[in-house]
Amino acid sequence: MSLLVLGSIALDTVKTPLEERKELFGGTASYASISASFFTNPSLVAIVGDDFPSEYIEDFQRRNIDLSGLQRVPGKTFRWSGEYFDNMNNRKTHSTDLNVFADFTPTLPEAYSTLPFILLANIGPDLQLHVLDQLQSPRFVIADTMNLWINIARADLLKLLTRIDLLSLNDSEARELTGQNNLIQAGALLRKMGPTYVAIKKGEHGCYLFGPDQFFSCPAYPLENIQDPTGAGDAFAGGMAGYLASRFSDSNSKEPINFEILQQAVVYGSIMASFTVESFGTDRLRSVEQKEIEERWKVFKKVSTF
Ligand code: AMP
Repeated sequence: MSLLVLGSIALDTVKTPLEERKELFGGTASYASISASFFTNPSLVAIVGDDFPSEYIEDFQRRNIDLSGLQRVPGKTFRWSGEYFDNMNNRKTHSTDLNVFADFTPTLPEAYSTLPFILLANIGPDLQLHVLDQLQSPRFVIADTMNLWINIARADLLKLLTRIDLLSLNDSEARELTGQNNLIQAGALLRKMGPTYVAIKKGEHGCYLFGPDQFFSCPAYPLENIQDPTGAGDAFAGGMAGYLASRFSDSNSKEPINFEILQQAVVYGSIMASFTVESFGTDRLRSVEQKEIEERWKVFKKVSTF
């Protein structure tokens, strides 16, 4: 075990211009941990209600995702619903029902406190800080966030930024958090707020990675059919974190985590995001075969070299 994943487990309702689907297996920790499970055995910190289908819990187990940090309590599972418009780049949240998440202040299993790689998938920054406070000396912490927290929990979010190594967020969130329209300037400003590295996701246009005096523009995998963009950012972060955790699985490894390795992590993250958007919910991500990841890696190599 070397990767902890914190986030939401949800039953989502998603509407696109073509279709609406209800009660999908979603949540930021679900997408992130399933994505990471192709590289490592993540340890999950999350909560579900007693209405959460046990087949999904069994799916986590089949992937060797450690569930000692997963609570199942009486009550309703977190629910989110959203709608995509036009070319699927615009999304409106219709409802967010925290349900069992409202009182979730987890005490981590003891074995989790020494995990070296941490992914704080999108969830309230107070909860992200609460988990971070229980860790001894993590080697690399990645955090994701969303516009909701930028608006209602900015102080906690700014505190979190001083304690993480990499922030992953989308372009509109980067603009909102910095007040800067130009993404190159936004990336630089976000690095000044704390994290050494910043990944700004731009949907079908790929992603920018910023580091100390370094910059990488990663394309998105060329896809003709996108069914549901939900969870792409979480699968991206999960792929990145999972790759890093597997690359440094020997806990004595002194190899530094440098920009080149993070570029590779960003490509693996982008590959996992590309599968995610090919179906509603986690269906496509859960059906990925290892060889498909390597096939897409080769395509990335081709489209990003000239
Ligand atoms: P993304 O498309 O990367 O923004 O992530 C979508 C996932 O985020 C969905 O599966 C939702 O269940 C989950 N989600 C939406 N809002 C929240 C929230 N406020 N806290 C935690 N998870 C959320």
